[in-house]
Amino acid sequence: MAKICIFAPMSTQRKWALPALFSMKCPVCLEGFVFVNKGIFPLQNLVKLKPNCDVCHQKLISESNNGGGINYALTVIVLFLNLIWYYPIFGITYKDDSIYYFLTTSAIIAIILQPWLMRISRVIYLYLYLKTGGKDQ
Ligand SMILES: [Zn+2]
Repeated sequence: MAKICIFAPMSTQRKWALPALFSMKCPVCLEGFVFVNKGIFPLQNLVKLKPNCDVCHQKLISESNNGGGINYALTVIVLFLNLIWYYPIFGITYKDDSIYYFLTTSAIIAIILQPWLMRISRVIYLYLYLKTGGKDQ
């Protein structure tokens, strides 16, 4: 079983896995882009993965890709991260409606970030799945 450490450089290639993850590169060679579309449009192909990596030909599509579960966790994290900048700027108190303004702003930001979050969750799943020796390999 491979070591699960996305912060460590891959011993063979001397590349960092984390920047490759955020630029949505293949978890095996860290070079091939994993999605069919470069950008997020058209939206119906937003999370469509290439069947195989262009560079190393690693199989990328897995029936059990659980990006959805990871996406939920990331969305919750974004909602909490909004508190870090919102609270010092606007303040939140129980005395007025400020908590509702915060929740609305936070939800809008989470929705705007959603296409990116959906993609990054699929990539995170790929990294976890391929690096822990999934059965489809
Ligand atoms: Zn690859």
